[in-house]
Amino acid sequence: MTFDLVTIFPAMLREPLAAGILGRAIECGTLDVKVHDLRDFTTDRHRVVDDVPYGGGPGMVLKPDPIFRALDAIAAARGTPLTVVLTSPQGKRFTQSEAQRLSRLEHIVLLCGRYEGFDDRVRRRVTEELSIGDYILTGGELPALVILDAVARYVPGVVGDEQSVVEDSFTRGLLDFPQFTRPAEIVVGGSDVVSSSTARVPDVLLSGNHAQIRRWRKREALSRTLERRPELLANAALDDEERELLRELQGGPMAD
Ligand code: SAH
Repeated sequence: MTFDLVTIFPAMLREPLAAGILGRAIECGTLDVKVHDLRDFTTDRHRVVDDVPYGGGPGMVLKPDPIFRALDAIAAARGTPLTVVLTSPQGKRFTQSEAQRLSRLEHIVLLCGRYEGFDDRVRRRVTEELSIGDYILTGGELPALVILDAVARYVPGVVGDEQSVVEDSFTRGLLDFPQFTRPAEIVVGGSDVVSSSTARVPDVLLSGNHAQIRRWRKREALSRTLERRPELLANAALDDEERELLRELQGGPMAD
């Protein structure tokens, strides 16, 4: 899958894209990610990308012409019709199912805004507008990285163990079960000596009984979801065993 990111701060994107799972996927060619400096698509000596808003008011607005030239250059280089994603707090909310949907595309352009955002005419070349949440950031670089990261995890070969993507929180509409690693027992410590205690990994995980472990994990995933995000259960894809466990958790086999 290929991504083109358009930004006025390429350095903000390069380091995060070089690390970890994304870094490896880019290095071995599973992902093809190009970062474009919007200033390279200006035509004036000072490489100006912003201007004052028509009608007055505070702040600056990203000029449309450098963005159109950047999109033309990307379209010519990629040779395919572009899916252009505008990062914007006014966009559709980006979720796990949006990530999954976008991962089926071959190619995505992500436009990172700054200042007061884009000249509205940029929207004429935009396929979709996505928001990562109801808050305002100083720029679209972090949203673009969030979107790219979540989408890339669904691209085959990016995450080593495909099963881990399937079992993640949200993938089936349930939060993930709790995870533990060695040691089996540890002193939790902390500044409050009174509450300092020894914490053990649940016995079932050390039992080697895989059927019991599977059932315990299902129960934990369900009880976490019930406790923290009960609204997710309405759309969760539960199997028979999970429906039975949920009924138990909600107060006995008779409750529905
Ligand atoms: N005045 C604009 C916000 C501009 S914030 C408005 O109210 O709509 C500057 C840039 O940061 C935006 O153009 C966008 O690219 C990015 N941005 C800020 N918050 C965001 C969010 N919640 N989701 C996605 N992008 C966001």
